[in-house]
Amino acid sequence: MSTASVAHTPQNVTLLGATGSIGANTLDVLARHPDRYSVFALTAHRATARLADLCLRYSPRYAVMADQDAAKELKRLLREGHCSTTVLAGHQALCDVARDAEVDVVLAAIVGAAGLKPTMAAVLAGKKVLLANKEALVMTGQIFMDAVETSGCCLMPIDSEHNAIFQSLYRSDQRVEMAGVRRVLLTASGGPFRHMPVERLETVTPDEACIHPVWSMGRKISVDSATLMNKGLEVIEARWLFNVSPEQIEVVIHPQGIVHSMVDYVDGSVIAQLGNPDMRIPIAHALAWPERMVSGASALDLLGVSSLSFERPDVERFPCLTLGYQALEAGNAMPAVLNAANEEAVAAFLDGKLGFRRIADVVAATMGRGGWQPAETLEAVLETDARARDFARWEISKRKKV
Ligand code: NAD
Ligand code: MG
Repeated sequence: MSTASVAHTPQNVTLLGATGSIGANTLDVLARHPDRYSVFALTAHRATARLADLCLRYSPRYAVMADQDAAKELKRLLREGHCSTTVLAGHQALCDVARDAEVDVVLAAIVGAAGLKPTMAAVLAGKKVLLANKEALVMTGQIFMDAVETSGCCLMPIDSEHNAIFQSLYRSDQRVEMAGVRRVLLTASGGPFRHMPVERLETVTPDEACIHPVWSMGRKISVDSATLMNKGLEVIEARWLFNVSPEQIEVVIHPQGIVHSMVDYVDGSVIAQLGNPDMRIPIAHALAWPERMVSGASALDLLGVSSLSFERPDVERFPCLTLGYQALEAGNAMPAVLNAANEEAVAAFLDGKLGFRRIADVVAATMGRGGWQPAETLEAVLETDARARDFARWEISKRKKV
């Protein structure tokens, strides 16, 4: 076998959400391959000092902040550092750097619904889109997948479970084949509260919820992992990415976080992807696919891990997982309603205004309100999102802190 390295024309990468956890992991991978990737644009919400550091280090053509005030501050910091990056602001600029003709790859790593429009801009422009921002796909489902189909964009999952499923599927001529698949098995660590007495869950704090036993992530997804809503969102994500029915998606608690997910075939074969819990693995895989490249993750020491265990999820303790399935079964706009209510409830919990156990109550009440019309366009989804947030905020205001 030849070990000669292949020459590559560097690809331009836009990294949406550069200052977050996925952003940091992505930049770590990109920095290992300067011959293959060049950073075109970096974006952030309000973390100006952090984005300034990244601009000085990676010299992107553009940096985008959420608003004019943050952009002004970033410009000042970059002037001081003699950095020539052009600073832009606002939602339109986010979409522009996602669809720019010079961009090859867009890494969608903004958290929540805020990432929907720029992610969709990249999809519609036919870019190679690496999707971490699961909320964008959960909200729009069929609309998102239709846009992928129409534009011919190459959509690659970054979520470790979906990346593992992608890697475990049979491929002919680079086309992913679903024929012969019985089920996909999504693994979940179970979060920090897997064994905590239910009464104690009433009083857990945001900091306790954000200490994840396996992964180090942003605060919103950490809370989602603690409630298991993250797995509910991932069930919906899997339905769309792999065109499987809800009955074909099973969630399995796997506390070690080594088996990242599995595909169960009709002949009884189960194919899994294993690795250390390190997001650089799916990021490097999706960037280089169909090739392979170094990610920086250490090799898996199976003897050190010694045992791998699997359990059924406790849906009594974690109702958010069931809510995810229910939203998928209800279809239409319900996943967008679930996502909007969850984003509001998690923000209120992180703000100390809502008890941990009330997150599921707020989501269930918002979904149960009735009258949610089908949303068949992006605009209709965004309208539903706004209405669901209003309703969820009202539900939050009715509840005491615990
Ligand atoms: P994070 O909170 O660490 O980072 C979020 C990024 O989005 C930051 O750069 C922030 O500046 C930006 N952002 C936030 N709100 C914004 C707004 N209104 N407008 C523009 N930019 C905004 O989050 P994260 O953990 O990196 O997660 C990012 C996404 O990836 C989420 O959708 C999450 O579910 C998904 N994901 C994360 C992990 C992980 O290991 N962290 C794993 C799988 C999937
Ligand atoms: Mg995941």
